[in-house]
Amino acid sequence: MAFIDMLHIEKSFGSVAVLQDVSLSMDRGEVVSIIGPSGSGKSTFLRCLGQLETIQKGTIRIDGAILVDTPANANEAIYASKEEQQQLLLNMGMVFQSFNLFPHMTVLENIMVAPRMVKGMKEVDILPIAQSLLEKVGLWNKRDVYPSTLSGGQKQRVAIARALAMKPKIMLFDEPTSALDPEFTSEVLRTIKELAEENMTMIIVTHEMAFAREVADRVIFMADGKIQEEGAPEDVFGNPQNPRTQSFLNSMLRV
Ligand code: ADP
Ligand code: MG
Repeated sequence: MAFIDMLHIEKSFGSVAVLQDVSLSMDRGEVVSIIGPSGSGKSTFLRCLGQLETIQKGTIRIDGAILVDTPANANEAIYASKEEQQQLLLNMGMVFQSFNLFPHMTVLENIMVAPRMVKGMKEVDILPIAQSLLEKVGLWNKRDVYPSTLSGGQKQRVAIARALAMKPKIMLFDEPTSALDPEFTSEVLRTIKELAEENMTMIIVTHEMAFAREVADRVIFMADGKIQEEGAPEDVFGNPQNPRTQSFLNSMLRV
């Protein structure tokens, strides 16, 4: 069994089918990049794994535990209990385009709040973890400032540290650099690359093609709610088979 199984996922908003029979199985430590035009369903797919959206059909299994399943003759997906869903959610760290830091909390408080509130950890036990994470993203010296005083790149590095403070088994990134000024992109990508080197299991939706190629073990090209092509980065970028992948990559290289 794979570490993550998302099988035959179907998701509609009203009558609009946004994910149509999308399947992804990942090994522990694997890094998958999802690329594709805007509106193709990339965010929705991530959000289904992160329990921010529910699916109508399919199966999602994380480390052997079933989040949601669709029995053979059922016409609707059946979710695990709220407690089981909550337990699975603890495995996930999520980082979005918008940083979503708590504006009224300092950088350090932003890192410490979830372990304290969700896991009931004691301050003395969280502090060393928070310190090592902020040192890792190079922002320990900013621990006492408020997010509004940080650059976009710094905010996003705090958001990554905050997600890591919950010790997730899987990190999901949805266009983590899209809201950044170009000069701050590389520091965030470097942080994500370091996580890949530490064998964090990650799904990264990105428009940074060079980064996707470099960081991923596997690249998925999505369009119109379907996986159109997937494979090793050197194949998808170097020798795309699907004409839609080819034209998408051409359009990305032109900008
Ligand atoms: P991507 O991340 O690839 O740009 P999305 O997953 O955000 O694509 O969106 C896929 C499709 O689903 C789009 O057509 C979008 O308009 C639609 N969609 C996304 N979220 C919602 C929502 N909450 N309600 C209705 N439609 C949505
Ligand atoms: Mg999106």
